[in-house]
Amino acid sequence: ECEEFPDLGQHNNNMAKTTATANGFTIDGVIQTGVDNPGHPFIMTVGCVAGDEETYEVFKELLDPIIEDRHGGYKPTDKHKTDLNPNNLKGGDDLDPNYVLSSRVRTGRSIRGFCLPPHCSRGERRGVERMSVEALDSLSGDLKGKYYALKNMTDAEQQQLIDDHFLFDKPVSPLLLASGMARDWPDGRGIWHNDTKTFLVWVNEEDHLRVISMQKGGNMKEVFNRFCTGLTKIETLFKDKGTSFMWNEHLGYVLTCPSNLGTGLRAGVHVKIPNMSKHAKFEEVLKRLRLQKRGTGGVDTAAVGGTFDISNADRLGFSEVELVQMVVDGVKLLVEMEKKLEKGQSIDNIMPAQK
Ligand code: ADP
Ligand code: MG
Repeated sequence: ECEEFPDLGQHNNNMAKTTATANGFTIDGVIQTGVDNPGHPFIMTVGCVAGDEETYEVFKELLDPIIEDRHGGYKPTDKHKTDLNPNNLKGGDDLDPNYVLSSRVRTGRSIRGFCLPPHCSRGERRGVERMSVEALDSLSGDLKGKYYALKNMTDAEQQQLIDDHFLFDKPVSPLLLASGMARDWPDGRGIWHNDTKTFLVWVNEEDHLRVISMQKGGNMKEVFNRFCTGLTKIETLFKDKGTSFMWNEHLGYVLTCPSNLGTGLRAGVHVKIPNMSKHAKFEEVLKRLRLQKRGTGGVDTAAVGGTFDISNADRLGFSEVELVQMVVDGVKLLVEMEKKLEKGQSIDNIMPAQK
């Protein structure tokens, strides 16, 4: 991979064990993206990636402090909890659709035994694609769907996926390019979605799998229900094939970017809050609710016309249900604040406490 790095593949000594994983992912590969990209003035980037499951173990001394910094003081001894039982979510079926335009929950999953996108070979990537499509094509009922490979979809299919906001494109961000995950583009990449276009899976984008449930309006409960049901079915299909998703007690689901460890979950809404978003306390309210904002065109985009993508700020140390609950409760409050401001009323008496 790297011209300058010694070939330690055949070495059996302690030094070799702490400078490369068994798959040959080196410390150089871990930090490449952070070395090449000094960062953004307002957005703190992570600056490193994992090349395989073992990366987080072999390079613990480097990665543990990064994980701690990124995930609000999460310690090397901390244990993560997973909760994908949608019945544990309270409410969430009644976000006001006059303000909440769409609801979405996504996560990533990595398939054990394959290197991650920054380090996988072309063959491994095709292996991930083959296994995933086989599993997804056996889903039935509401989840019955079809796979569109980037390399051979028709122009009409491509246009449809663009119109539906389902397509992902070849990365242009230097952050992603420097990590190595865009190699061999578009080989092995594609989009699978169900016939009703409410459940989709990205194959070999930033993670092996990105699983997404979404629909118009404010029924986050329905979105989360479908997310959990679909995800659990997919996991069972992989288990039947004798493999599993990368997961451990400490890091939860293991993903390419350290910022996504734990749940990998981002639950978000597109919400129209032109008054609230101009209010002096907007940032403070988001911080107290443990929420983050983006433009609706995706990460790095600016909001247009007072419509924002509002989602959970945390990934690790909280369960899936807890994170979706924060979004449901927080978005409800933001909409309540927006309605007060519309009427020229103060929001001082409904300021939330720090979560
Ligand atoms: P992610 O963190 O899931 O990769 P991005 O910010 O990169 O999210 O956005 C990915 C795509 O999903 C973008 O095209 C964005 O417009 C779309 N998207 C994100 N959240 C929503 C939502 N709540 N409703 C509709 N589309 C969404
Ligand atoms: Mg993205």
